Amino acid sequence: MSLPATPIYMDYAATTPVDPRVAQEMARYLGLDGTFANPASRSHMLGWLAEQAVEGARRQVADLIHADPREIVWTSGATEADNLALIGFMRANRARGRHLITSCIEHKAILDTAASLEQEGFEVTLLSPDRNGRITPEQLSRALRPDTILVSLMAVNNETGSRNDIDALGRVAHEHGAAFHVDAAQAAGKIPLNVETQPIDLLSLSAHKVYGPKGIGALYVRRGTQVAPLIHGGGHERGMRSGTLPTHQIVGMGTAFALARAEREQDNRHIATLRTRLVAKLEGLPGLHFSIEEGYGVANILSVGFDDVDGQALLMEMRSLATASGSACNSADVAPSYVLKALGIPSSRALATLRLSLGRFSSEQDVDGAADIITTTLTRLRSIKSPA
Ligand SMILES: *Cc1c(COP(=O)(O)O)cnc(C)c1O
Repeated sequence: MSLPATPIYMDYAATTPVDPRVAQEMARYLGLDGTFANPASRSHMLGWLAEQAVEGARRQVADLIHADPREIVWTSGATEADNLALIGFMRANRARGRHLITSCIEHKAILDTAASLEQEGFEVTLLSPDRNGRITPEQLSRALRPDTILVSLMAVNNETGSRNDIDALGRVAHEHGAAFHVDAAQAAGKIPLNVETQPIDLLSLSAHKVYGPKGIGALYVRRGTQVAPLIHGGGHERGMRSGTLPTHQIVGMGTAFALARAEREQDNRHIATLRTRLVAKLEGLPGLHFSIEEGYGVANILSVGFDDVDGQALLMEMRSLATASGSACNSADVAPSYVLKALGIPSSRALATLRLSLGRFSSEQDVDGAADIITTTLTRLRSIKSPA
């Protein structure tokens, strides 16, 4: 087998390439011959044009989730949106209660923010998922307290692709009078989102998981939901997030979200076909385990763990395949992923777990090449380990 010259990219859940149609649009908002002016410059035509572009993009992002454009607040990404949702909401509503509920398999943008809120005197309950990565409405119901004011749960998990029943969970939060925040960084463009019909008050979005640029995201804030700003100065974004708006980034996110809206079903069909092919090529491998059962997750993420192989060696030997592992490197230490551990997956297998994530530009050749690399590497490492 000859290795491809460039690595096969199978890490779309970490970030996506910018769609060429998005990059082309962004380029029009940078230079002297483009719409580069400050969108907050109200005194000249060029400023108005930039503002128009920003507001057009705001509508494109709002449209994907069926929101009113006035409910979209630009941020630097989903990390900032998560921070603004949790810290901003808890601070603005502290008179009503101090308790927040989230889960132990959330992204670090939620977990670290929740930990910082504890330092501020708020109380946090972390729910544990079932073996397929779901938080049940019954579990949430039991954890709610009279002083619970916010529940934050992700729509799609970034490591395993597992999906939560957002409608059922949101209803439980609302029946209790708590607000509901959803981290939808991995859900946008993959599953339908509709804040008109779904019980969601706050929703975090990122552009770079949906073929847009890195460094731009948004928080949906349902009308009437109080959120205290984290960044002060100038009063942009109705006072919730100050700072000169990055027109090119915003136009990039808008274009990417418009494409996601128009092409979601086509993308999903393409990815589902590739996933089926990938699963068929891998499932016969000895000692292979899918991290969650089929049917519980999104098609674009496939998390597979292996017995009887050293996780670190596996990753090291597969440099021509760009993928993510079930381990987290904290300086010198290699620890199994906290998400896989929470699903009850043993540490040794979590360390030998690969997150293979597909996207719009994945091809059959990518899938076949990746399956070849994984099969060859596993076979070689196992033969070294067990002398004949
Ligand atoms: C990527 C991701 C984030 C962080 O988004 P950024 O835009 O990179 O800050 C947050 N939550 C989830 C679930 C993600 O996958």
